[in-house]
Amino acid sequence: MSKKKRLAINPRRCVGCLTCMLRCSYRFTGAYTPAAAAVSISGPDCSTGDFSISLLEKCDGCGICAAFCLYGGISLAEGGDRL
Ligand code: SF4
Ligand code: SF4
Repeated sequence: MSKKKRLAINPRRCVGCLTCMLRCSYRFTGAYTPAAAAVSISGPDCSTGDFSISLLEKCDGCGICAAFCLYGGISLAEGGDRL
């Protein structure tokens, strides 16, 4: 089982703060460069208002993004859509 399975994604709880991208990019590069993150936030969708949360191939499920997400968009807890 991939470590990514540890992550639960709840796009409807995401507020688009981009903290996950910043923290993830810092882990990979030592700098806050969202383009280098293994997670991507896009949106909000103009009809639903929801953001989209995508994990890229290089994500190894370290859980840093979940640890810093204050809104439950990404978490390690049960619930949400499993990846
Ligand atoms: S998943 Fe969490 S940390 Fe990432 S943009 Fe959404 S609310 Fe912010
Ligand atoms: S689990 Fe780790 S590598 Fe994957 S998106 Fe989150 S911080 Fe980045």
